[in-house]
Amino acid sequence: MDFFCMNNPFQNAMTQLNNAAAIMHLDTNIHEILKQPERLITLAIPVTMDDGRIKVFTGYRSQFNNALGPYKGGIRYHWDVSVDEVKALSFWMMVKCATVNIPMGGGKGGVIVNPKELSEGELERLSRGYVRGLWRNIGSDKDVPAPDVYTTPQIMGWMRNEYEKLVGHADPGVITGKNIEDGGSEARGYSTAQGGVYMVRELTRKMGWNVAGTTVAIQGFGNAGSFMAKILHAEGYKIVAVSDSKGGVYSEDGIDPDKAEKIKNDGGMLGCYCVGTVCNIDEQVSDDGPCRKITNEQLLELPVDILVPAALENVITQDNASRIQAKSIVELANGPTTPEADEVLKEKGVTVVPDVLANAGGVTVSYFEWDQNVKGEHWTEQDVLTKLEKIMVDAFNEVWETKEKYAIDMRTAAFVKAIERVADNMKEQM
Ligand code: NAD
Repeated sequence: MDFFCMNNPFQNAMTQLNNAAAIMHLDTNIHEILKQPERLITLAIPVTMDDGRIKVFTGYRSQFNNALGPYKGGIRYHWDVSVDEVKALSFWMMVKCATVNIPMGGGKGGVIVNPKELSEGELERLSRGYVRGLWRNIGSDKDVPAPDVYTTPQIMGWMRNEYEKLVGHADPGVITGKNIEDGGSEARGYSTAQGGVYMVRELTRKMGWNVAGTTVAIQGFGNAGSFMAKILHAEGYKIVAVSDSKGGVYSEDGIDPDKAEKIKNDGGMLGCYCVGTVCNIDEQVSDDGPCRKITNEQLLELPVDILVPAALENVITQDNASRIQAKSIVELANGPTTPEADEVLKEKGVTVVPDVLANAGGVTVSYFEWDQNVKGEHWTEQDVLTKLEKIMVDAFNEVWETKEKYAIDMRTAAFVKAIERVADNMKEQM
């Protein structure tokens, strides 16, 4: 087995590829091709700043593999963007799309910039400039970008508009993550969490747990975590802890996330509002009552059935992995578990539903958005959810079967299953 290099995401991605390749006896020619992106584009983007100066920004688009369909993946605006990060993220997008078996390939883009330092006009000129450098290589049949860190539906709107001006015709499917009135999909707003909920349901079945007795702790109360908490609570799971960047709350009787959010909106901190009888519904969180304030570190180490990291990457590390008491982890965040921690969790017998499967509901509904755009359709919310559930449940069961077949963990199983699919299509196209 190859080992991981802590600092280089692309080397880590290639280690994952090599490990999966060894298990599945991947064809050596296919393995060779998968060691780099099919196309790596570097852009120098001149932007006229508000003071009249020209500043040149560096941007990238990595098109890793399109054996299953057009490249798909977000565009990130961040000061830490690097070639190796973009290449790794495009590889992981390939794996994610192939894990859930949607007809999209892997891509990712980024610009080295601190968007908070730009005026709105500068941001618009940068976004249009990015597309002017890239337009020949994107399109609904080639490469379909989407929002990522610090890029928004507004930025996607500018990019789509610039692209359509350059090609001279409408192509709403060139970019996803649009507002509904601009061709976005129903349910996209909570699709990542909804996909994660389907994973929790399947896991509960496999483990033979009953829903009412199953305890869940969720780190992060943003788009992914807050919807996850609310939907699971509505389904009858016991949410015993939630947190955001300011810290968390814990109640062994269970927390009502809608009411916890209301306290956050009113006062800036997540509140408690227990579901059970021990804690009065109006009781505020205190340090020694049945509802306790906890830190984010304490949340990760609670003795729960399901731990859901839904905030940052690298929160479960070799430093805290041995203290994790959760029976299972459902990774709604991208990359919350380091490779070293993964090894410890494997030894402890913790079942990890990996990010490439657990949070793939988001990219799946992005694919639905693209599909609706290219067909000129608009599906109802119920249609979207029915299709999403089938894709996610099928993917869970395929990964589970692969895990059993090779006696490996679910993360490696997802990589094996995904690379098997990509390799089969590559062979057909050779
Ligand atoms: P978000 O910005 O909406 O929310 C992030 C949440 O994390 C906030 O509640 C914030 O308070 C909390 N947070 C920040 N720092 C924290 C800390 N130190 N400790 C605990 N909590 C902290 O982001 P999001 O869209 O919910 O994304 C969360 C994770 O899910 C990311 O890893 C993201 O890549 C992943 N993800 C999101 C989507 C999606 O569709 N939103 C899709 C796939 C993966």
